[in-house]
Amino acid sequence: MKLIPLPAFQDNYLWLLHDGQRALVVDPGDAAPVQAFLAAQGLRLEAILVTHHHADHIGGVDELRDATGARVFGPARERIPQPLQRLAEGDAIEALGLRFQVLDVPGHTAGHIAYYAEHFPGAPLLFCGDTLFSGGCGRLFEGTPAQMADSLGKLAALPGTTRVCCTHEYTLSNLKFATAVEPGNPQLIHYRQQCEELRSRGEPTLPSTIAVEQGVNPFLRTRQPAVAQAAHGHDPAADPSDPVAVFAALRQWKNEFQ
Ligand SMILES: [Zn+2]
Ligand SMILES: [Zn+2]
Repeated sequence: MKLIPLPAFQDNYLWLLHDGQRALVVDPGDAAPVQAFLAAQGLRLEAILVTHHHADHIGGVDELRDATGARVFGPARERIPQPLQRLAEGDAIEALGLRFQVLDVPGHTAGHIAYYAEHFPGAPLLFCGDTLFSGGCGRLFEGTPAQMADSLGKLAALPGTTRVCCTHEYTLSNLKFATAVEPGNPQLIHYRQQCEELRSRGEPTLPSTIAVEQGVNPFLRTRQPAVAQAAHGHDPAADPSDPVAVFAALRQWKNEFQ
């Protein structure tokens, strides 16, 4: 089974899985790069997995479904091109012989879901859309800080080896912010260097892993004293002993951060 990040737009990845014959794609905001890859590799598209309703995640769904007959899966509580099978936490789907569990991860949008394949060969696999990014998290367009902190906590509780397939290559700018929050974190310093080298060669920094994110991502580290104190230093109203207040202060700080 091969896992491919197809670049699209400015900084999106359309994640594609295939076994040499059948493929699935996650959040195809644009059909063209997916069609080109399927044709070049002689693959049949079996399934389209959607995490949330933003245009850069659904723009190619109709065209791909109509051209290939692929089944479409998406969040139960969002407006996604129909027909599709609507999913919420507790549901599971089978595609390419793999089982994906569905997690509700509201915050970036109100009905955002993630797909988790526990038994993926090698290590578990997570498609988390715009919820968790490497070194950061999605903006809160429709949810509250408490919802997003809870959603991120759910993802952080997955096994450390889980490969984290996020939709955007935001890693370097996220790590610049993470360094402002936690300048003395040696794992962060090391990871930032690694990612800078990858990007200088034009390579993706993704997938990341849950273990890496626990070590470097300030939005998963709201209980670390250094992170809590930095958030409190930026916004003195944020109680450093309250992880949701710390999260909210970090998210606001990141929104303003250059
Ligand atoms: Zn989005
Ligand atoms: Zn997006």
